[in-house]
Amino acid sequence: HAKKHNTQKYAYFDDTLEQKMAWRLGMAQQLRADFKAQKLQLWFQPQIDLQTTKVVGCEGLLRWPTENGNMISPDIFIPIAEHSGLIIEIGDWVIEQACREIKQLENLGITKIKISVNVSIAQFRDPTFSKKLVHTIESFNVNPELIELEITESILMNNPNAVINVLNQLKAHGIQIALDDFGTGFSSLSYLNKLPLSRMKIDRSFVQDMDSGNGKTIVQTILSLGQKLTLKTIAEGVETETQAQYLTELGCDIIQGYLYSKPLPPEDFKLFIEQSLK
Ligand code: C2E
Ligand code: MG
Ligand code: MG
Ligand code: MG
Repeated sequence: HAKKHNTQKYAYFDDTLEQKMAWRLGMAQQLRADFKAQKLQLWFQPQIDLQTTKVVGCEGLLRWPTENGNMISPDIFIPIAEHSGLIIEIGDWVIEQACREIKQLENLGITKIKISVNVSIAQFRDPTFSKKLVHTIESFNVNPELIELEITESILMNNPNAVINVLNQLKAHGIQIALDDFGTGFSSLSYLNKLPLSRMKIDRSFVQDMDSGNGKTIVQTILSLGQKLTLKTIAEGVETETQAQYLTELGCDIIQGYLYSKPLPPEDFKLFIEQSLK
């Protein structure tokens, strides 16, 4: 069946390679145009401390709205941004937005909320990455300890020593590093004590499996690994009270998920946080 891909949001499994490439090129052009036109948004999903039940931080998540008001999923457009190289500029902008948000919260008298941003391997390959990052944080006059980079295990795939060097430089500047989607990567555990981590995020898939079979045992094991490495532990994708209850029992520090809040546009996030801190 014939399809017009330049106007379509998704590629199909049975498409030819040519069709897929045309689709991807069209998407990349649209993404570039929309980014230049400042149509991308950074939303924020609250992270709640299980001890105090207060918001202690948030994760910045990119949103790409279409003309009809729907959002194209980052799982679709981030790989396109990575392939086209656009992720470098977008990633710089994400960090600026995070700094801007921290300043705006400060203006409301809210000073201790961390903001985590996701970073792609392509950004680490950019030799100016750490310099730009430190410069941005300084120029916004933001406390670097409030900025956290979320990396995944896959970032270590090609040149782990180079990445570890960059992370150590950033850590020396006070910037925090979290390991995202922990447990889903390819890697062995040997890299764990080579990374200057402060937090570990347990992947949503483990949290979702907690009420069945050995699911709880697996989460418990991941948590105790994190705890023994003296990392703060964050559970992602917490959707039910039962999951939150289990995670509390198992000593998880922080949770993030639809149970508390979906990712919110900046204005709604500020309202949410003001409510939470009352
Ligand atoms: P991630 O970093 O693992 O982000 C967590 C994802 O889980 C987000 O999906 C979030 O909306 C979703 N989520 C949070 N709580 C729940 C829940 O309770 N239930 C369910 N079902 N989902 C939940 P999102 O926003 O679609 O982002 C997907 C991925 O795209 C992110 O996964 C991250 O890898 C990537 N991404 C998003 N923003 C950026 C960015 O600024 N830069 C880069 N490089 N990647 C980004
Ligand atoms: Mg993340
Ligand atoms: Mg994750
Ligand atoms: Mg992910």
